[in-house]
Amino acid sequence: MESGAKKWGFQGKQGLEAASTTTVRGYINLLMGNINQDNCLTVVPLGHGDPSHFPSFRTTPAAEDAIVDALRSAKHNCYSTTVGTLPARRALADYLNRDLPYNLSPDDVYLTIGCTQGIEVVISILSRPGANILLPRPGFPLYEAWCAYNHLEMRHYDLLPEKGWEVDLDAVETLADENTVAMVIINPGNPCGNVFGYEHLKKIAETARKLGILVIADEAYDNIAFGSTPYVPMRVFGLTVPILTLGSISKRWVVPGWRFGWLVTSDPDGILQKSGVINSIAGFLNISSDPATFIQAAIPQILENTKEDFFSKIISTLRECADICYNRIEEIPSLTCPKKPEGSMFVMVKLNLSMLEDINDDVDFCLKLAKEESVIILPGKIEVSVSFFTNGIKLNVLISYGGKKENQK
Ligand SMILES: *Cc1c(COP(=O)(O)O)cnc(C)c1O
Repeated sequence: MESGAKKWGFQGKQGLEAASTTTVRGYINLLMGNINQDNCLTVVPLGHGDPSHFPSFRTTPAAEDAIVDALRSAKHNCYSTTVGTLPARRALADYLNRDLPYNLSPDDVYLTIGCTQGIEVVISILSRPGANILLPRPGFPLYEAWCAYNHLEMRHYDLLPEKGWEVDLDAVETLADENTVAMVIINPGNPCGNVFGYEHLKKIAETARKLGILVIADEAYDNIAFGSTPYVPMRVFGLTVPILTLGSISKRWVVPGWRFGWLVTSDPDGILQKSGVINSIAGFLNISSDPATFIQAAIPQILENTKEDFFSKIISTLRECADICYNRIEEIPSLTCPKKPEGSMFVMVKLNLSMLEDINDDVDFCLKLAKEESVIILPGKIEVSVSFFTNGIKLNVLISYGGKKENQK
């Protein structure tokens, strides 16, 4: 039989391509394809948040030793338990317990393949027909991708540049209804480089409580704060509202390739337990994969042996990058920075399109920059992300298209 005439029973998944091209990786692939190979410029990859390529961002030897010790012991070549091994969960519960008004136990900690798998877990288990979720704008496109994949309706609230990228809590109240399950916050902020203060986090918790929704706190950049606002974990407000914290060693230890993260339930009043969310998390992890067992085994040693001066050196390097980047941007008339970055590895930059010749929007800007200058920065629907190398150091910058408010409704 001719293969052309044969009718096969399979096909690619509908909607997956649309969901995956809007992620950071999806855009990087698109823009790399737009590089002009003839212009002999070195490609400047300013599109993703992975500084591990640079010597000044090498992880601590304490972490490397912990991995080597775990591997060489030959005790961790086995499968892990699906929620993660107990010593790692216990060590993380201690690490995350600091300054909390209630106690996290190892049972509140689930080990994930980076924060990325944490996002997959929470969006998947909260999805049900008719439900919706509140996401930040600007935000982290992986949330949109997983919502699209799971057919979970997304409603976007704005981060307000004039208020240092705080959550528009009035919008949150307007957007939420009886089918809203959760709101996502990212703190320290990717892509805005902001850090929410204690009082603002408290208001977020109170608003979520009033609305009867849980808070998903993406703290991939936990403790990466170098401005005047100290980092406060959302879970401090676990007595007000149930919180799911997502975190990982990717950014703080600069080892995104090690693929180790956690999902932590702050549920001192047993609300998540009663609603079945806890069972769903465990159930989801039962049918998916786990972080490598020897990485899990190294975690107690990594947490215990990493010296404070490793963290402070990374923080001061990032502060220096942020300052250089911010000052340069301020010198360019067509670009403005609503707020000097205080955390994460990104800053948000607005394009003044009226001063830019032959540029239609942020996406156009990114495509032309890739083509003409071999500089890769990331477009979103309404913003663009750029990362900078300065003195061999990389910093990410996000360019926001000024027409955001008009696009909103
Ligand atoms: C990097 C990042 C992640 C993913 O982190 P991994 O631990 O590397 O999977 C999730 N959320 C935000 C906001 C990030 O910047």
